[in-house]
Amino acid sequence: MTTLNVPLTIEKHRLRQARQVACDNHNERTEGEISLLVIHNISLPAGEFGGPFIEDLFCNRLDADQHPSFEAIASLRVSAHLLIRRDGSLVQFVPFHRRAWHAGVSLYEGREACNDFSIGIELEGCDDQPFTNAQYTSLTATTVALMSHYPDITPSRIVGHCDIAPDRKTDPGPYFDWQRYRQALTFSIEGGHATR
Ligand SMILES: [Zn+2]
Repeated sequence: MTTLNVPLTIEKHRLRQARQVACDNHNERTEGEISLLVIHNISLPAGEFGGPFIEDLFCNRLDADQHPSFEAIASLRVSAHLLIRRDGSLVQFVPFHRRAWHAGVSLYEGREACNDFSIGIELEGCDDQPFTNAQYTSLTATTVALMSHYPDITPSRIVGHCDIAPDRKTDPGPYFDWQRYRQALTFSIEGGHATR
């Protein structure tokens, strides 16, 4: 169990407390802007946790033969900046100043292509199961670190994938407790550090 209830550190656009995994699915942010945080969920196969397949997908090595549902996605070129596992541990695929490929066709306040200006965090999970306490703890600590390092990300500029691609996406889904997350954020910010 990894509980990240201490302030997290960002160095050279990488979270020091995250395991770093090499991933090719990113490109330059042409505007350099980082002003939105997008929360997702992912599990491969859907509803199953703990396997290697999310990392395989983001590293372009997902074996289509491993599960019937993989055939349709094995050739996708996708990524996120961070994955938060069920135990709260963090995996980073893309440094924050680079443009990860998590949002796809998307719209936020009249602006398309949210990948250009957002950071994407995947919670290992699905639309029909609660997320873990450890995930809320890690997500909150990560968000506090991101808002501190990239001040254009503010509490009002945190959205779900479903908010910026409502016709295509439902994640992070009905089990993601926005109120709990936002209260924990407020508590952490007012306390000056990430304590829960
Ligand atoms: Zn998503």
